[in-house]
Amino acid sequence: MAGVLRMSSLFVRTLREDPADAEVASHKLLVRGGYVRRVAPGIYTLLPLGLRVLRKVERVVREEMDASGAQEVLFPALLPREPYEATNRWSEYGPTLFKLVDRKGNDMLLAPTHEEMFTLLVKDLYSSYKDLPLTLYQIQTKYRDEARPRAGVIRGREFVMKDAYSFDMDEAGLDASYNTMRAAYQRIFERLGLPYAIVSAMSGAMGGSRSEEFLFPTAIGEDTFVRSAGGYAANTEAVTTPQLPEQDFSDVPAPELVDTPGAKTIADLVEMANRVHPRSDRPWNAADTLKSVIVTLTHPDGEKEVVVIALPGDREVDMKRVEASLAPAEVELASPEDMEKYPGIVPGYTGPGAVGPQARGGAVADGADDGAATGDGATVSVARLLLDPHVARGSRWIAGGNAVDKHVFNLVYGRDFEADGTIEAAEVRAGDEAPDGSGPLDIARGIEIGHIFQLGRKYAEALGLTVLDENGKTRVVTMGSYGVGVSRVLAAIAEQYHDEKGLVWPVGVAPAQVHILAAGKDDAVFSAAEDLATQLTAAGIEVLFDDRRKVSAGVKFADYELLGMPYAVVVGRGLANGTVEVRTRATGESEDVAVADAAARVQEILAAARASE
Ligand code: ATP
Ligand code: MG
Repeated sequence: MAGVLRMSSLFVRTLREDPADAEVASHKLLVRGGYVRRVAPGIYTLLPLGLRVLRKVERVVREEMDASGAQEVLFPALLPREPYEATNRWSEYGPTLFKLVDRKGNDMLLAPTHEEMFTLLVKDLYSSYKDLPLTLYQIQTKYRDEARPRAGVIRGREFVMKDAYSFDMDEAGLDASYNTMRAAYQRIFERLGLPYAIVSAMSGAMGGSRSEEFLFPTAIGEDTFVRSAGGYAANTEAVTTPQLPEQDFSDVPAPELVDTPGAKTIADLVEMANRVHPRSDRPWNAADTLKSVIVTLTHPDGEKEVVVIALPGDREVDMKRVEASLAPAEVELASPEDMEKYPGIVPGYTGPGAVGPQARGGAVADGADDGAATGDGATVSVARLLLDPHVARGSRWIAGGNAVDKHVFNLVYGRDFEADGTIEAAEVRAGDEAPDGSGPLDIARGIEIGHIFQLGRKYAEALGLTVLDENGKTRVVTMGSYGVGVSRVLAAIAEQYHDEKGLVWPVGVAPAQVHILAAGKDDAVFSAAEDLATQLTAAGIEVLFDDRRKVSAGVKFADYELLGMPYAVVVGRGLANGTVEVRTRATGESEDVAVADAAARVQEILAAARASE
């Protein structure tokens, strides 16, 4: 990476104003600093400075992958439909998959991730247990038509990912490969200076068993995760609610339909319940009301289904948890038109009486097509009822009465109604007990920067990746899949390392380590700065040199602070006394150093910084 970067010729235009579409600091600063330019929503061009940072992130990732024994390959992004058809992902991936058609009419896609291709490649070339274990990786561009591209390159529709895949004979081998990748990820993020939490994750549409995410903790993160003092850590999507003990309902009176005019909110309903229908042991409260959330699922085949989710009224529904539980179906709140097809659903008053197994005549069914018989022999659609696990068997509820202004009191789960299944729908709250009993949960937000998971045999089975074992028997290979969001990491580093003036890159990923400012008008200033640039470059240090003649010192300082090289040497006023100023961007500290000692001093500072990063 030799060669001085000169501000006079570098392809960069810094901006003083934040871009109108940017909300998070890293996005604003990367645009203002001339690191990235937007082409379309979620689609960005990297300019020279941005590309330099990306290459450095890639280098760290590549070095750690190579050191862990993984071998690099490079797949195309443009792929045929068939492999993705074989694993069902052509449809399961839903609208996030970029699909296209070639001139001959063949369906093609832009790969969102490459499990199929790696599986087929290994199948193509390997056939014996002697060839395994094997881990392959690539650093490559991925395409996902994200519903909500966001925060610049943090959530792009085109982005750079490192994806690796391991191939093993058995579970023990998979565990070993997984642990090797896990350790490599820890080193990667440590070297990049990114704080991370390793949390249990849902394996989602990919299937498989062990699954962990590396989350960079930040308030602007879209992921929410929990931690307990006892060491439990999970994405909230993956938090499971421990099964509650069955409650004794022997003295709960029979259910009763009660008029509750005007009780629109849960608070209204509780207040009215205590007035018109008090219970003898204690007052009703919000946790005694059964709230229904009605959603429409769009299954991968395009089929739509309305589902009623019931949870205690004192908890909010967490749609991300719902979505994660119901993937690969897409989930949205049901529209009035969706609900109209289900006569049992009365918006605002839907309770278990008119949905779920009881409305279908008692039989527990698993699909929306199961109808209930009507008097004239026709069937009507009855929605499935899914219960949040905070609803214990035997518990007593006030629920919607399936008629406007009516609620049912003393409805007991297991006595008066059943459900078609359970779903983790309720929000996880700070203070909730960890599922493994390791203490109360703390909640934080983060950005997923890496994801490792054990795919198992799903892909190998679907695509026929088998090898012969020691006894000549055919065995299906077991796989792991490991991703790092390389371009997202670039932005995460910017998010972690900036201040109100601009970026503050760590030495390891900065486009250049030293920014030399020729801050004056005299030729002497420029020639001293030029000498210094030459010396530092010769010492293997990357230099950004602000050699612009007609630009004021003030503008140069502002650009230095915005662009965020970790160290600067200011050649200016002090030169008359034979000194230059060495500055540290992160702390704002500066020291005067004799011109002749400047290069050596900068090298010393850099060596110390590298040792501590
Ligand atoms: P997310 O939950 O953020 O959508 P994901 O779980 O769908 O991510 P994976 O399929 O696990 O992502 O991809 C591996 C890694 O690629 C992620 O950990 C993340 O760092 C990165 N990544 C995923 N989607 C994007 C995107 N749209 N833009 C940039 N990076 C992404
Ligand atoms: Mg993921």
